[in-house]
Amino acid sequence: MTAEELRESLLCSPRNGLLELTSEQRQEMENYCKRYAAFMDACKTEREATAWATREAEARGFRPAVPGMEVKPGDKIYLNNRGKSFLIAVVGTESLAKGANICAAHVDSPRLDLKPQPLYEDSEIAFVKTHYYGGIKKYQWTCVPLAIHGVVCKKDGTEVTVTIGEDESDPILVVSDLLIHLSADQMKKTLAEGILGEQLNVILGTEPLEGEGADLVKLNIMSLLNEKYGMVEEDFRTAELTVVPAGKCREVGLDRSLLGAYGHDDRVCAYAELEPIFNMDTVPTHTAVCILADKEEIGSVGISGMQSHAFEYFMEILCDGQGVKLSHCFANSFCLSADVSNAYDPNFPETCDRRNNSMLNYGISICKYTGSRGKGGASDASSELFNKIRTIFNRAGVLWQTGELGKVDQGGGGTV
Ligand code: MN
Repeated sequence: MTAEELRESLLCSPRNGLLELTSEQRQEMENYCKRYAAFMDACKTEREATAWATREAEARGFRPAVPGMEVKPGDKIYLNNRGKSFLIAVVGTESLAKGANICAAHVDSPRLDLKPQPLYEDSEIAFVKTHYYGGIKKYQWTCVPLAIHGVVCKKDGTEVTVTIGEDESDPILVVSDLLIHLSADQMKKTLAEGILGEQLNVILGTEPLEGEGADLVKLNIMSLLNEKYGMVEEDFRTAELTVVPAGKCREVGLDRSLLGAYGHDDRVCAYAELEPIFNMDTVPTHTAVCILADKEEIGSVGISGMQSHAFEYFMEILCDGQGVKLSHCFANSFCLSADVSNAYDPNFPETCDRRNNSMLNYGISICKYTGSRGKGGASDASSELFNKIRTIFNRAGVLWQTGELGKVDQGGGGTV
């Protein structure tokens, strides 16, 4: 054999998928990206993603999971967990005792949540105080257009959905930063300290209401909110309002080869799970299940996070419907935990092992294990399992690569 033949048959050769696309595949990809971008525009919070998924599931004939329901092959079933997380299944021809194929992603993203007593006036400027949610770089949240999303359960028992800053005719909001001329001290601080959590106060307005007394700017803002949403100040205490970057998903680069949007992590995986299960037109052998979890960004806690029993509850309804023990189903199940990995960025080469980092356009990144330091907290896939995945992907012509999140002792992480 020549060296060239040996290279071909023996060596692994990662490749840029864009060089291998047929024009039909390119068109499919572009169409997929358009549908994904529309999903990103409609879903900036876990609530919005759950509502969107529920609407789409209903429109495609999925039925809500109900304890005691009969569960037959081909049945399409979903569970909306308190409007915050979502589970969906297409029941396979095999019994659930043979296990399910599960994909898990999360639909929450880092953001600024409003505090329970957010609204105040200082120096004739009205602000809301926020408490950040998830891992953020605080300095990134100043001087960028922001929007408010969420729900307010009001004193009178009614509930109102709030979205300010997304419509082109809406105002946007902003957190101020210091002008460079006054930044001598700030510029000496670390990135972690340059902007503090208690400085992430969002400007709501500056115009005083006509009249007498204190806090006329705040009063003006409150009366605008009352006009539009019927809110009073006490409603902030019970509300679930959150501040996210304003604006739509955009194409990035002169060649439009990237998409820029808030919250790709992890809605890029959520959408990749949802589309195929929504469009599954044959009954799968094993039951197909998708999880859209909440609270991953803060440790998968709470009644909508993966540490809750919402997933087990959903699977138990399915198993009960076939007279199968839940543990027997789980013992034979397979799960891909889908979250984002990092692509190699030549701006920060020192953060990763170049040879084990995923590359842009080289296909989906499969992390064999997560964790940090000595794989602490890792989910570590076996050779048998990974080989099954490799075989499926290779057979289907899926371009894939492996990835590791940062170099040893530098990076690390986990997911649902
Ligand atoms: Mn994630």
